[in-house]
This record gives sequence, C-alpha cells and structure tokens, in this order.
Amino acid sequence: MMEACATVASVSATKRIAVIAGDGIGKEVIPQAVKAMEAAGAAVELTSFDWGADRYLAGKVTVPSGAFAALARDFDAILVGAFGDPRVPSNIHAKEILLGMRCQMDLFANVRPVRLMDASLCPLKGIEPKDLDFVVIRENTEGVYGDIGGIFKQGTPDEVAIQEDVNTRKGVERIIRYAFEYCATNRKIEGSARRSVLMSDKSNAMTHAGGLWQRVFKEVAAEYPQIETQHMYVDALCMQMVRDPRGFDVIVTNNMFGDIITDLAAGLQGGLGMAASGNLRPEKTSMFEPVHGSAPPIAGKNIANPFGAILTAAMMLGHLGMAGEAQKIETAVLEAVRQKKTTADIGGKLGTREAGEWVAERVSSS
Ligand code: ATP
Repeated sequence: MMEACATVASVSATKRIAVIAGDGIGKEVIPQAVKAMEAAGAAVELTSFDWGADRYLAGKVTVPSGAFAALARDFDAILVGAFGDPRVPSNIHAKEILLGMRCQMDLFANVRPVRLMDASLCPLKGIEPKDLDFVVIRENTEGVYGDIGGIFKQGTPDEVAIQEDVNTRKGVERIIRYAFEYCATNRKIEGSARRSVLMSDKSNAMTHAGGLWQRVFKEVAAEYPQIETQHMYVDALCMQMVRDPRGFDVIVTNNMFGDIITDLAAGLQGGLGMAASGNLRPEKTSMFEPVHGSAPPIAGKNIANPFGAILTAAMMLGHLGMAGEAQKIETAVLEAVRQKKTTADIGGKLGTREAGEWVAERVSSS
C-alpha cells in the first residue's frame, strides 16, 4: 500500500505528478522546482511522497510494496530530487528506489540535454551558447548496473571479483532506435533540425558487447537515411568533448559510459547544479530528476543550486505537452543566469531559496 505524504499543490487536475524530494539537497531544490511550476500556472496536481533515508531509518522500508505499479497506474510523471545519505552507508534505499523505478517501470531511455545558458558558465574558452546544444541518450536498464557477478576467495591474495555487463539485442535496439527517433523529431534550441546520431562504445576492447552495439547501430541507421551517423570510442569522445564540443548533436551510449560522459558534459554547462534529465519510456509514466546527487557536504545549508531541478521540472512539463509553461521557466532561469541571480557555484550570491524565488517571480510576471 503506497501512502501519499501530502498533496502539495492542486492547480487544475490535468496531469498528476508524484513528487519525491528524497535526501540531502533533493529536499531543498525540489520545493523550488515546485514553486516554478506553480508560478507557470502548469495544469498539474502534485502529490508528494516521503521516500528516502529518514523513512528508511524509521521503518527499514525502502519502497512500499506495490509502489512502482501504483506510480505507473496513478501518475502521469514523477519528479525526483536525489537519494543518498551518510547515515545509510550502503545507500540501499537509494538503490532500491532509483534502480527499482528505472528497471521495474522499464524507464529505458535516460535523456540528458546538454545546453549552455551563458558563455560565462563554460570552462572552455570561446564556447558560446549556440555552440553547445547536444543531448546524451543513455541506456538505463542494462549494462553493469544489474549487480550481477560475485567475489571468489574474498580477503585472500587470490581474490577474484567479477562484474557482468549485460547487453541484450532488445535493450540495445530500443535505445538506439529511441536516439534516431529523438533526432528525427526534435530541434535544436535555436530552431534548426537535429541531424546526426553518434554512437559511442569501447568495442575495440569490449568486443562482444561492442560488436552487438555496432551491428544494431548499422541496422537501425539504415532505416533513417536522412540522419547522419558517427561512431567514437568513449575515450576519444571524452577528449573531443573537452577539446571542442561544437559538433555534437545526439549521442547514444550504454549505461555506464552515459553515466560518465554526462557528468563531464554537466561540467561544460556550468556544473552538476545546472543539469536536468528524464528517465523515459514512451507513452508510459516517466521519471524526471536533476543529474546531481544528494550532495551531503552541502545539504541543509541553503547553498545548493536549484536550477538543475527547476530545469528538470520544465523538461517534465515539456514532455507532458506543456511547452509554453516549460518555455516560461527556461526563460526565467536564463534571465537569472544572465543577471547572476544565482547560487555561488555559478557565480551569484543567492541562497537556494532566494534563487528559486527569483525564478518563480520572474515566471509569474512573464
Ligand atoms: P551521486 O553518486 O548520487 O550522483 P555524487 O556524490 O557523485 O552523487 P553529487 O551528490 O551530485 O555527486 O555532488 C558532488 C558534489 O557536486 C557536491 O558535493 C557539490 O559540491 C557539487 N554539487 C552537486 N550538486 C550541486 C548543486 N545542485 N549545487 C551546487 N553544487 C552541487
């Protein structure tokens, strides 16, 4: 039985959103994302759930039974903050909630837009906002995250650790197809069409898994002759991303490489506090979360950047068909960045709440 903690807002009951702020800075940034959606007048009904470390420590329950099925049945989307707390060293609750949602709800496409709002945010010289507008599409349910493997002869000099990397044809094909569909149907911020899909792997070393990705990529690409294709080994991709990220458009890759390159990409757009993401399954309840984690060292201090969470809320509204409301929020964040009405990580002097309030006021008056 899944109990809602509270209904935090009810504007007009069109889209039902489950809000799970979670732990650490998640509890600080998600209220700011909620404020922005309310200010935009989005037709949403928000219901909050108190899943996270506090609840786990109190009752040793990570996820109430039947919760994922209920989320999929009763909500149009889920907005998540972050999970992870030093009082739960195993972070078992984080794993069961996040990986559980991704795998049990089969949210197979992790979509991470990489956009530069202002040149001052990019550590690379000479990169302007028009130069950095790509998206990483990360496989979200397979790879090395299934915790398959084991340890043999633990604690002895002969100890062996084996970690399996799972790649199914179904999983590889659907994420690659998703990337081509994304490319075919989405435009860049300044309006031009997206044109190319780059697949990244390490097929020179991981020949079996990489071989499958290579074959499937070629097969699916043949169905989209209008879309250019590229391939890069993931090490070369990392180097190119910091040397000159201008040529990237849509990048598709596996779960672990996607995890790594999206943190690198977040660095290009102003740091973890600026990056948004969606965990999607077409036509089904999808989950949206900022790229950052719970950041225990800065939690509870009103210094976390709320813009990643606010932009995540905008991404969710766009996904739910509220493009106008999403645009209002993005424009307000852009103004905040330009006017340095931000937290210190991106050069401003405001606290989490104050930066969130500035954006919400800007949205209200737009
Ligand atoms: P996870 O593995 O859960 O993604 P992590 O430990 O890799 O988490 P985060 O928790 O995201 O990483 O944060 C790492 C550091 O990045 C933080 O300690 C903080 O310094 C910085 N950081 C992350 N998010 C923000 C934010 N929203 N605002 C400001 N700084 C942030």
